[in-house]
Amino acid sequence: MFHRRVVKNQKINLLTDEFSNGIILSKFMMEKENKKGAKNMKKQDVIKVIQILKEYYPEATCSLDFKTPFQMLVAVMLSAQCTDERVNKITPNLFEEYGTPEAICSMELSELEKIIHPCGFYKNKAKNIKATASVIMKEYNGVVPNTMEELMKLPGVGRKSANVVMLEAFNSPQGIAVDTHAKRISNKLGLSKESDPEKIEQDLLRVIPKEYYYDVNHLLIWHGRNICVARKPKCTECPICMYCKNVERF
Ligand code: SF4
Repeated sequence: MFHRRVVKNQKINLLTDEFSNGIILSKFMMEKENKKGAKNMKKQDVIKVIQILKEYYPEATCSLDFKTPFQMLVAVMLSAQCTDERVNKITPNLFEEYGTPEAICSMELSELEKIIHPCGFYKNKAKNIKATASVIMKEYNGVVPNTMEELMKLPGVGRKSANVVMLEAFNSPQGIAVDTHAKRISNKLGLSKESDPEKIEQDLLRVIPKEYYYDVNHLLIWHGRNICVARKPKCTECPICMYCKNVERF
């Protein structure tokens, strides 16, 4: 009786071990798969994709209007959850009188809110723009800092915005700004299986050589706006469909 119970318990233990080993194994396989996802496309194919897109969008550049690094910074802050087109309609009016950190510090918060109202989230954006202008005046003598670390410490400036400022204002791309378009296209092409923009950026940086950072920042946005659109990607017109893991067939 005792012997039978021991054997039975051993069997249960074995089954439990098999079960947990199975979970560990499948977790391991999933993690391996995820890592593989980032490496799915070979480096030479990624470069080919960039070259094709570059030929397809020779005019791909930043679509925000600005004259100084500070204006670029403000334009990027305004562009969160808003189209560049709309931001460009507002900034000429704003920058005419308030185009410097000093001028922004001197204006009333309510006045700033009124001007940027059409960009959405105007209360939060106005508060962050004022706070950022104040930090730039106090800590950087009125000059926008030109490192990712310093930019990311400014109120309301995250990694994506810092990437854009480094690229457009200082012509010194440090990474890839992952917006909604870059995120969608990276997933569709199989360049990343992640959903978190910072993790997607890390996957992209692993396969994209630094000399292409400048182009990629613009090309992903242009492709997302023109062909690989969110609602219904125009796969039949897509010049990189042969490299896409999620091409939609009609
Ligand atoms: S083939 Fe379709 S889904 Fe793939 S990148 Fe092109 S438009 Fe996007």
